[in-house]
Amino acid sequence: MEATYPFARVFTDKTNNLNVFFDESPTANTFVQLKDMGKCVVEFCELDFSECLEELKKLNTEEVSSNFEEIKNRLWYIVDLLKDKHPYVQFFLNSQMVLTFYGSDKSKEEQVGSIIHMFHYYVDLQNTYRIALEVCLSEEVLNEYTLPERFLIFGNNFPTFNRYMLRTRYGIAPMSYGEFDKSRVLRYSDPDEVDMKKKLADIHRDSQTPINMASYFVIQTLEEMLYLEFMEMLKRGIRIKHCALCDKYFVLADKRKREYCDRIYKGNRTCKQIGAKLKFNKSVEEDTYLQQFQTIYNRMYSRYYRIDAWDSNRETNSITEEEFRHWSSHASQLRLDYKAGKLDGEELLKALKYSTKFYDNES
Ligand SMILES: [Zn+2]
Repeated sequence: MEATYPFARVFTDKTNNLNVFFDESPTANTFVQLKDMGKCVVEFCELDFSECLEELKKLNTEEVSSNFEEIKNRLWYIVDLLKDKHPYVQFFLNSQMVLTFYGSDKSKEEQVGSIIHMFHYYVDLQNTYRIALEVCLSEEVLNEYTLPERFLIFGNNFPTFNRYMLRTRYGIAPMSYGEFDKSRVLRYSDPDEVDMKKKLADIHRDSQTPINMASYFVIQTLEEMLYLEFMEMLKRGIRIKHCALCDKYFVLADKRKREYCDRIYKGNRTCKQIGAKLKFNKSVEEDTYLQQFQTIYNRMYSRYYRIDAWDSNRETNSITEEEFRHWSSHASQLRLDYKAGKLDGEELLKALKYSTKFYDNES
């Protein structure tokens, strides 16, 4: 099956980088090395689609065929709202627009409908990935299970994940000793301009690190890209954790102990910069209230994800998805209030225990 431009070629290697060629057309591409595997998945989950959804609501889709061009322009504009807000979301949504408007024989109504659907689809997918990250890779829950067990638990709740497939190709790449060497990426505007045979011979002669053949992923959609990055996180056992200041998830890039993320918190200072100076901001290990919070949180978690029955088909789900989502967002808010000093430890636990009471009779 052919890939249609625009698409991306993604090389993985033994480092935690993703080496990505964003191919706009046969003659135009951009090379980006995305560092900290998993960061883009976490950032996708945090991405704010509300402005896009607001703009979509304003679209007049009653008479698509008579103002098709205007609607199309509006949709390009809406996709561009995400530009610079995430390393690859806009590229792939843009790609899907190109495929829909120029590469399909759908009617105009269907084309517009499918792009509107695309936005809602990705808003839903944010929630799936939030759960995927938490169930499989959070340092704070389900610690008694191994990573493969946690993936099975997740797969039990989201069976389509296990059946997903990605396309691969083989090509010449600046790959040596298991590492993609970005300094050897050739840049040219027209493939015919390059004497590839000579280039390869030169590189080969001049270097200790020869060019090799490598496999790469052909990624056409945002969904494929997120899946690839997420599965590579799993493969490498890259964990995530709540930032002790802003409470958002961040990727633990290495084995070093970290409590804060690199996001801007106030002014132009990051959580890490501010957090380093906050002596009162204790880590979970030192804070008995946060420890008790975590125990209660984990208990609710296990009930929702049927952890006790993850290897059977037994329906023991004692709380519904909606109930759990509602409860866990309430719990996160309480933790945030505690960290901000709006609640003390006793108040935090009292409020949390009170909120779990509503679900106790059902088990
Ligand atoms: Zn933070």
